Amino acid sequence: MTTAKDLMPGEGNPFLAMSRRFEAAAQLMKLDPGLFEILRHPAKEVTVYLPVQLDDGTIKVFVGYRVHHNIARGPGKGGIRYAPDVHIDEVRALAAWMTWKCSVVDIPFGGAKGGIACDPRKMSRGELERLTRRYTASIIEVLGPESDIPAPDVNTDEQVMAWIMDTYSMHAGNTVTSVVTGKPVALGGSKGRKDSTGVGVHLMTLRSMALRDLKPQGARVLVQGFGNVGGVAARECHATGMKVVGISDVTGGYHNQNGIDIPSALEHVARHKTLAGFKGADPVGNDEFLELPCEVLIPAALENQITSRNAARLQARVVVEGANGPTTVEADRILEERDVLVVPDILANAGGVTVSYFEWVQDRVGYFWTEQRVKRRMKKIMNRAFEEIGGFMEKYRVGMRIAAYMLAIHRVAEVHKMRGIYA
Ligand code: NAD
Repeated sequence: MTTAKDLMPGEGNPFLAMSRRFEAAAQLMKLDPGLFEILRHPAKEVTVYLPVQLDDGTIKVFVGYRVHHNIARGPGKGGIRYAPDVHIDEVRALAAWMTWKCSVVDIPFGGAKGGIACDPRKMSRGELERLTRRYTASIIEVLGPESDIPAPDVNTDEQVMAWIMDTYSMHAGNTVTSVVTGKPVALGGSKGRKDSTGVGVHLMTLRSMALRDLKPQGARVLVQGFGNVGGVAARECHATGMKVVGISDVTGGYHNQNGIDIPSALEHVARHKTLAGFKGADPVGNDEFLELPCEVLIPAALENQITSRNAARLQARVVVEGANGPTTVEADRILEERDVLVVPDILANAGGVTVSYFEWVQDRVGYFWTEQRVKRRMKKIMNRAFEEIGGFMEKYRVGMRIAAYMLAIHRVAEVHKMRGIYA
């Protein structure tokens, strides 16, 4: 696994990575200096200290964050992450990425993100519920269907969203389903939300492969991370005739050059929680995994996986970023020189937030769509964004990432210009 000490100075800092791409795109499009100044800063940051009584009776204080990067186009939208190394710089970067992602797919949301530094694997369900409810109560002033709508992210799920929704509703005195997305369908969740990010990643994989004249049938795919995003992306690739030759999770990599039976890997994880002990492939280390022979690589786990250290050795011709921030700026440069097509996170994994938008719309109207309708509309939005980014790539002769930032910045900047500055 790559660690910060293996990287170039600043390479592993996600906020710096986001800022450098933003600056590159802003310069190329000659963004007005005032708008540049506004957009390079977050709009609001909340840090909360959360006392929670653990099951053994002791009290532990956890630190949590909620950041609004920009809310000019609509309420802040973004997930909540539970992990031991959650840090304000990471949450800041993720909030900004949400601004750009919502803008890329042109849905009426701004960018937000939250996180709590904790190790959910070492906590009981009761402890997680108390932590979630205390966090919700502590940031309640910034939450709301018109102001900030959380969703699941790493280590948070439908149950966590249900607790947030319930806590918010108890304070409001009535049930407010539209305050979070990614809820259970029985509580006002949308059909198709759970699979939406992975389904969108698969769609973007097919579109980008076509740009490199790669046919899906038999194309070799590696998927790093086998959770909500990676598991579904692998399932969809397998179902459309691609050969998923490698999958990985926190327990390591698993390789089978003849193709892995993805349904049986998913069944294994459903039964045992991780891929450990999966018999349908040979174990490989996580570092070696990324460098295995393939046409397509889908990083769908964590940030900073493709770096200056390994980018030159990747064999993929197309990289589709299921995770947020898996490729560092330095690695981008190396991949571009090697003509590897990188579909950036702010496009590749935008299927999730697109269906979150549909969930919010359905909750507010109180009328729920079929799964087919959800998928059809999501694909239409993703395809439109893919083509619009193609327009920027041609016009400015830039790679897909910078083109996606340019499209996103352009839309946010237009709204700021129309709204003016309140003083
Ligand atoms: P998840 O918790 O469901 O799954 C994460 C997966 O990554 C797990 O299989 C885990 O074992 C694996 N993993 C953890 N550490 C690893 C390591 N060191 N090496 C290899 N695998 C490792 O999370 P998720 O919701 O699938 O999110 C994955 C990424 O996608 C994150 O970057 C997240 O921000 C991003 N994302 C998620 C969504 C969504 O809708 N869930 C939407 C957009 C972006």
